Amino acid sequence: MKNLVINFKSKDIKKIKNPKNLLGGKGFNLSEMGRMGLPVPPGFTITTNVCELFYKNRKKLNKTIIKIIKQELSKIEKDSKKKFGDLQNPLLVSVRSGARISMPGMMDTILNLGLNDETVNALARKTSNPRFAKDSYRRFIQMYSNVVMGVKSYNFEELIENYKLTKGVLLDTELDENDWDDLIQDFKRVVKEKTAKEFPQDVYEQLFGAISAVFLSWESNRAKVYRKLNQIPASWGTAVNVQSMVFGNMGNDCATGVVFTRNPSDGAKEIYGEYLINAQGEDVVAGTRTPQHITKKSSKDISSKKQSMENLMPRVFSELKKILNKLETHYKDMQDVEFTVENNKLWMLQTRSGKRTAKSAVNIATDMVKEKLISKKEAVLRIDPNMLDTLLHPTLDENSKITVIGNGLPASPGAASGKVVFTSEEAERLNSMMQDTILVRVETSPEDIHGMHASKGILTSRGGMTSHAAVVARGMGRPCVSGSSEIEINYDEKFFKASNIEVKEGDVITIDGSSGRIILGEVSTIKPEISGSFSTLMNWADKFRKLKIRSNSETPTDTKIARDFGAEGIGLCRTEHMFFDEERILSVREMILSKTKDDRDRALQKLLPHQKKDFVEIFDIMNGLPVTVRLLDPPLHEFLPKSEKEIQDVSNALNISEKEVISRISELHEHNPMLGHRGCRLGISYPEIYEMQCKAIFEALIECKRSKMKPILPEIMIPLVSTEEEIKIMKNLVNRVAKEIQEVNNIKLDYLVGTMIELPRAALKASDIAKHADFFSFGTNDLTQTTFGISRDDSGKFLNDYIENKIFDIDPFVSIDDGVGQLIEIASKNGIKKNKKIKLGICGEHGGDPKSISFCSSIGLNYVSCSPFRVPVARLAAAQAQLKK
Ligand code: PEP
Ligand code: MG
Repeated sequence: MKNLVINFKSKDIKKIKNPKNLLGGKGFNLSEMGRMGLPVPPGFTITTNVCELFYKNRKKLNKTIIKIIKQELSKIEKDSKKKFGDLQNPLLVSVRSGARISMPGMMDTILNLGLNDETVNALARKTSNPRFAKDSYRRFIQMYSNVVMGVKSYNFEELIENYKLTKGVLLDTELDENDWDDLIQDFKRVVKEKTAKEFPQDVYEQLFGAISAVFLSWESNRAKVYRKLNQIPASWGTAVNVQSMVFGNMGNDCATGVVFTRNPSDGAKEIYGEYLINAQGEDVVAGTRTPQHITKKSSKDISSKKQSMENLMPRVFSELKKILNKLETHYKDMQDVEFTVENNKLWMLQTRSGKRTAKSAVNIATDMVKEKLISKKEAVLRIDPNMLDTLLHPTLDENSKITVIGNGLPASPGAASGKVVFTSEEAERLNSMMQDTILVRVETSPEDIHGMHASKGILTSRGGMTSHAAVVARGMGRPCVSGSSEIEINYDEKFFKASNIEVKEGDVITIDGSSGRIILGEVSTIKPEISGSFSTLMNWADKFRKLKIRSNSETPTDTKIARDFGAEGIGLCRTEHMFFDEERILSVREMILSKTKDDRDRALQKLLPHQKKDFVEIFDIMNGLPVTVRLLDPPLHEFLPKSEKEIQDVSNALNISEKEVISRISELHEHNPMLGHRGCRLGISYPEIYEMQCKAIFEALIECKRSKMKPILPEIMIPLVSTEEEIKIMKNLVNRVAKEIQEVNNIKLDYLVGTMIELPRAALKASDIAKHADFFSFGTNDLTQTTFGISRDDSGKFLNDYIENKIFDIDPFVSIDDGVGQLIEIASKNGIKKNKKIKLGICGEHGGDPKSISFCSSIGLNYVSCSPFRVPVARLAAAQAQLKK
């Protein structure tokens, strides 16, 4: 393998194709700053290639790599005119992680490496500052023992606190050289006690121990969680940077700080940051001392009594300001920079694209276009579409103190607090008393829709990203954390347990559907705000994209939201969702449980006016845009009555005994309802159901025409088709009903008939099916389920193991898997070959996922359809997909 270790000054970087993948963000930017002529301490990057070799070599560095690292270290020695382990002028280094994209705080860092009982004295002599040397050594022991040897930090902190108490002082800065000397002995004793090993005195042992520990931290729990939340593949690995140390803690002409070139929370064009005089990097982050502000303005804004850097170190500040400007112009993006001042000399330790809120990201992108720093195209490409989600839902106020008691899947974004309830009825009852609730269920079913509506958020212990709870919550825009196997629900005694804490009905919790966190108590939230620059950006995106964006919606409220967010049609109106309302679900149950056609017709007649009314409202809101109405597709288990009351209601409605109802339920029981009597299979067995639905669609259309609403073109969609014969029969049924209604009303109606492609056979036999279809809509929830043979409702339980074992990089129910993608491609190609005019779209949950949208754009689909709240995300992702083509 080539490119194992690369010096910051190496010209070879130019020859490397994707240098960031190899060097990690930090290493790449350090070398880039060097090339720009900025003051960067000498160093080198051990690449992600080595990370791969390290894991292949049973988590050990091999001999060749050790040799190369030693050679590179000698170059730093030459550059810095210091020597590693030397007793006169010792070189000290930092060892820091650096993944392809920055994962702040997720992996380990070690500073001051190269100090031991002897070099510490050399450092003291050389700097004439023994206090500084001892302080640096104790910091190194603390960090190294924690990261490499696994000694918990509190052991050391406790020793320092006790020492200060005994001495009668408050601050670390009040401890002198001799105090640190005493503490160093104590630290080493603790290390020996806890690990049965001496603290290593061999500087090379220290170096290779630290490098290995940084590689190992790639697999730490916190890094894994971060990767999962941010969809970062485990296969990327991290690079490690070894760099000569510079010191911000050598006296009052030294400092260290972190600064952003613009304000990361609102995007304002101002230097924003903090620094500390006489300190090392971790002091700023750790909060042991309150940092000072960089500029006079920000110190004034927060009425800080402490001097700003601009005041205290005017010459260094002005150099820093110039460098920040240079960096922003070079990278054409807001930078997050770390610097150190050593005896009044400024050193740059890191620059990276600054993390920012969605609001700030959008403001910065549009401002930079105004400043002619970037083009509109670049502005559109700059924003992570997933980030927009936070502009559309309330988010947690990250300044609040929180107690996380568990985690689940981030199924529907936004944050919500409320009293825990375990039934939909209780959610409704409290809602009518204006009380906020979080509905906590093992899993949800259609009966819970009213409870989901009535609650502020939904938490389930079972189910994946496309489970009922997740899909419905996203559609409604309700925050949802699903599939949290960390919580144990006890319905009987009305409590759930998480992290050994019992949360009872009525206790307040907060869920964060954007990160999957479950939090004890109430947390304040920030309301969504769609600013002017947000709509400017969306307008630019719309100009670049070719893919149309539709929404999955079936209620007038959702449809209105979708339109407001810019949906250009409805791509999936799930008609079974229109029956969730209490009054209607009874008629649906009557229909399902009817034994005779007469009984079924009676139930259907009750449903017809509801369906028609809903269609009229939706068609009206869509104002001339296409609406895809899917005929009934209920997996039966979702609709059968379960509770005693539900059984009683059906028995009254059908005028049969409860026993008879129970016996019909058991006749209908299916072992695999997802693969059972659903989709068009229902239409084949009971054509009267689909006839009623078509009648409702056409009569609604006539009503719209007569009341002079802008006519829409309904696209009638047949679900779960796998054979040519099925679509043929169903299409005839639709045409027959259309013909009858047109004749009776003496009116001409335009409509299309198409099908969902959600079974592998349908995808493979697309050219036969396309003969009878005006459109294909890929139902990738079911297509993923049936291609893998993995139940979409149960996958939450084990998909984590698949991600951990690197079998999947990403949950295939979130981002289209390439095998499923191949089926979509085959079906699209063969569909078009047979029927040039065929419209192609996707309406599974993947329709709102940027990666999947990019795939849909690459194979030439006409539209994607997603939950209303994902529409802006999809608009932006579609523009990016087009621009990247
Ligand atoms: C699908 O299967 O992708 C789909 C959109 O249908 P549903 O989620 O309703 O099964
Ligand atoms: Mg489906």
